[in-house]
Amino acid sequence: MECADGTVVHAEFVAGADGQHGAARASAPWELFTEYRMQHEFRWLTLLAEAPPSSDSTIYAVHPAGFAGHLLRSDTVTRFHLQVPFADTVDDWPDDRIWHELRIRLAQPGWTLNEGPVFSKNMLEMQSKVCEPMRHGRVFLLGDAAHIITPSGGKGMNLAMADAAELDAVLARFAESGDETDLDVYSARASPTSGRRRSSATRSST
Ligand SMILES: Cc1cc2nc3c(=O)[nH]c(=O)nc-3n(C[C@H](O)[C@H](O)[C@H](O)COP(=O)(O)OP(=O)(O)OC[C@H]3O[C@@H](n4cnc5c(N)ncnc54)[C@H](O)[C@@H]3O)c2cc1C
Repeated sequence: MECADGTVVHAEFVAGADGQHGAARASAPWELFTEYRMQHEFRWLTLLAEAPPSSDSTIYAVHPAGFAGHLLRSDTVTRFHLQVPFADTVDDWPDDRIWHELRIRLAQPGWTLNEGPVFSKNMLEMQSKVCEPMRHGRVFLLGDAAHIITPSGGKGMNLAMADAAELDAVLARFAESGDETDLDVYSARASPTSGRRRSSATRSST
């Protein structure tokens, strides 16, 4: 493999764990891959506020105006998510509009929303993509290089770590057997579309 600066790297295996915009996926021969994609028609505005959590647990609120989330970060900082129209930008959401909307969507009887200065605001793409197979020859795709899951599930990092464990097991088996068909198992087992993954439990804290 030749790097941009001309450095040549010799490797028996390549683990492409360089994220969704990395070189591993970009250099894959696309005609050999199938990409399954789902793009939602909205985005999440995600923000961090200097405000103590208003509850001792995560809140995912389903409201006719759209989803709202309240997530604990520390004693003094809370993360919030707001479902917003796809075409909206951060500039469409000044702080007073955000708090107004959060008060409406998170409202519960006898409950008060703690508010404070917003110090981080970003738009999150709500899309899922899975690339199959996750292996081409001796190049293996891991984590976001192979699959993106919307942040709502809090699952992407879990899947990336599970891919690494799966690849470790596959390579260990191959080291013993020397049988190339042992490498085929990786993509079938690591893909989020596989039955094994669909039934696996994950922890999350999006
Ligand atoms: C807002 C948000 C909240 C999330 N919350 C959760 C959650 O609660 N739970 C969960 O499980 N997941 C969560 N995720 C998803 C999770 O962050 C990702 O799925 C996970 O980080 C993917 O890991 P990765 O190692 O595949 O890729 P990345 O984390 O993207 O790591 C790839 C690394 O490769 C490096 N790299 C890229 N190109 C090169 C190069 N040419 N040379 C050297 N290095 C390179 C990058 O700098 C980066 O460090 C969340 C994502 C978002 C956006």
